[in-house]
Amino acid sequence: MHKHPSHYKGLTRPIDTTITVDGRFNPYELDQDYVYVVCACQHDKFRVLVSGYPEVKVICTKCEKEYLVYDVDYYPTTCGYDPEKGNLKMFKSESGNEIFQVIAGWLYPEEPEEDEDENCLDWFILVVKDPESGEYIEVVNDESA
Ligand SMILES: [Zn+2]
Repeated sequence: MHKHPSHYKGLTRPIDTTITVDGRFNPYELDQDYVYVVCACQHDKFRVLVSGYPEVKVICTKCEKEYLVYDVDYYPTTCGYDPEKGNLKMFKSESGNEIFQVIAGWLYPEEPEEDEDENCLDWFILVVKDPESGEYIEVVNDESA
């Protein structure tokens, strides 16, 4: 079972192909630690709201349900960049698209502590897939610990 933090209340779906993303630091492959974000209504396309704090919310384009995918406040060993807190902006691709499939990587330490819980993340990655161009775009690449 893939873990995700306690604040995320939606569903997930495994990634079924090898995807290479041109990241902020270097290109990387999305492996089994990455999952598609899926709404409780089974829809998998979302509008994506991001702040530089960072926080990430996604809104289902079918039923309008909103999900908190990432909020640095939930991770005890990190602190966000306060001026950006709550300053959520709609993510758009260069081609102007606002609706995406969303891939989250809630990455956990390889050797977890005994008392590790689902909020003990190492790192968080958010990648979106533009359903029109097929392009994968890294939106957030945040060290959580
Ligand atoms: Zn929905």
